[in-house]
Amino acid sequence: MAQAPRTRRPPRAPSPRSVEALLERRYGKYPDESSGPVLDQLVWFLLSTRTTVENCDAAYGALRERYPTWAAAAEAPPEYLGECLRPAGLWKTRAANLRSSLAAIRERFGSESLEELRSWTDAECEAFLRSLPGVGLKVARCVLAFGLARPSFAVDAHIWRVTRRLGWHSLPGEAPSERGADLLQELARGSRDILSLHVNLIRFGREFCPSGEPRCGACPVAAGLGCPGAILGR
Ligand code: SF4
Repeated sequence: MAQAPRTRRPPRAPSPRSVEALLERRYGKYPDESSGPVLDQLVWFLLSTRTTVENCDAAYGALRERYPTWAAAAEAPPEYLGECLRPAGLWKTRAANLRSSLAAIRERFGSESLEELRSWTDAECEAFLRSLPGVGLKVARCVLAFGLARPSFAVDAHIWRVTRRLGWHSLPGEAPSERGADLLQELARGSRDILSLHVNLIRFGREFCPSGEPRCGACPVAAGLGCPGAILGR
């Protein structure tokens, strides 16, 4: 009797802990160093959306050089701010959001400082940050994680795509839905070092698993742990 052809089962999704350990061996741990004022972090992450790290750094550097204090930046005409923000692109929107955010922070805390957030709960911090102009869920969670050392996990397009290919979720879209971001945050909270996992997944996504053709043949996760996305070609 003829035998039915064998079908190869896709590998199971590797566990977040096993991926975390593999990526840490490859890329190392994110340095555990003081992040400085919370507002500095917020402004940097505000400028980091839809641009490269290099352009964000250039815009942030120009801003700090011209306005050594956030109070001075808050008083600056939008076109002056815009001159600094040009390297990051979208400078009119960024300048308007920055001015409005600084004004809202002054109104809430009496000065251009977010240090009071250090005594707030995660949920309170996230809600306040998201109330600021131009601050979405990803930026708010970056500030929580990098500025306030909270167990927060920001999901960008790289992390969203890579984790779907790894089988950690099956939600569609190029960018994470709020439900998807919450789901991945819950998963990531089981990791030993949530900041390193965030940074290393982005590095890994850029190096091996970009939005175009993933380099599955060279992928260390596929070789060491298996990846359902490699078989399915998602
Ligand atoms: S095997 Fe391919 S799809 Fe899976 S994580 Fe590696 S590069 Fe991405």
